[in-house]
Amino acid sequence: MQRLGIIGAGQLGAYLCQAATKLDVESLVLSHDAISPGVALATEHVIASYDDQSAVRWLCEQSDVVTFEFEDIPDSTLDYLEQQNDAKVHPSPQTIRMLKNKAKQKTWLAEHGFPTSDFVVCSDGANYSELSQQFGERFVQKAQTGGIDGQGVQIIKASNADQLWQQPTMVEAFVPHVRELAVLIVRGVDGQIASYPVVELRFCSKTNVLLVANSPARISAEIEASARSLGQDVISAMEGVGVFAIELFETDNGDLLVNEISPRVHNSGHMTIEAHQNSQYEQHIHAVLGEALASTDQVHAGAMTNLLYSDSLADFVGRPFSDWAEGSGTKIHWYGKTAARAGRKMGHITTIAVSLETAVEQVVDSSRALGSDIGEVL
Ligand code: ADP
Repeated sequence: MQRLGIIGAGQLGAYLCQAATKLDVESLVLSHDAISPGVALATEHVIASYDDQSAVRWLCEQSDVVTFEFEDIPDSTLDYLEQQNDAKVHPSPQTIRMLKNKAKQKTWLAEHGFPTSDFVVCSDGANYSELSQQFGERFVQKAQTGGIDGQGVQIIKASNADQLWQQPTMVEAFVPHVRELAVLIVRGVDGQIASYPVVELRFCSKTNVLLVANSPARISAEIEASARSLGQDVISAMEGVGVFAIELFETDNGDLLVNEISPRVHNSGHMTIEAHQNSQYEQHIHAVLGEALASTDQVHAGAMTNLLYSDSLADFVGRPFSDWAEGSGTKIHWYGKTAARAGRKMGHITTIAVSLETAVEQVVDSSRALGSDIGEVL
């Protein structure tokens, strides 16, 4: 039996462990937290911090291939993995090192000629009057590392210029866009590459929280094809191995700009469990183990909403990692989190249907039925 080592054991890691079991692969996780959902689902686990070299060594020695659930891996661990000539690590530590830092990622995109917004790396401080000369009165500042789910991103205007972060950041032009899209790319060890149908990400206009992800996206066939081929070109150019998620902006004249790349399975791909022939989790395992890729075909229209913690979800805290069908076509997933804070992802809902409209309606209705404050989905 093949043995897959995974660094990280949150919900994405847990779904990788589930997919591994389905594919007759043993999973070994390194988690910094004993109550992470992947720990209970893995064949074996070690609990240690992500820079604990003896734990990383154990994972390498015990696994045929090591992969990652998240990209913010400590440099010392990436250094160690790079020096392990015998250990197969996918994506490569070099790829993780480049993508975990937004400034390095953007620089790589620009150097390789991929479409992305203009940017500047701010290594020591940021000054509004200088930046506004380059980017106009409104621009976007991003933490170079560690910011997830929008926490490391702020839109700066004259009115909040005093909030500019002074630690190392990256500043980029604000991109007016009609839609945000995500495309999942999978590339195998032998360079075989495929893409999943594009997912549309619909955000709350006030809070910029993701309300619903749906596929198919409400885009033209041309944009669908361009997004998929752009994604494939990006991942081929970096010789990435595994599943990658590429978030894109569609501008009002139909151009696509790369916003960011994640070297891992992604929130926007949860619906591939129910709506597609093979999930992103299964696909990632095929790819990193050097197997042939499976089909990325979509079977049903799908919609997904995250269940973010608010008081109305208090009864669900501590519910074990599980999913249950709620009527036909609706699946509610809980991640088994025992500690809650406002906005934390506690689970998600996926709906599948014949039509996109029905899938989106159902996901909104199910979310409201749980008391979740989903807002208005336009
Ligand atoms: P995270 O890694 O936290 O997801 P992102 O870089 O994806 O951060 O930014 C979060 C959100 O902020 C995006 O989904 C988008 O809505 C908005 N955003 C980010 N960059 C820009 C930009 N250059 N122009 C306009 N909106 C942006």
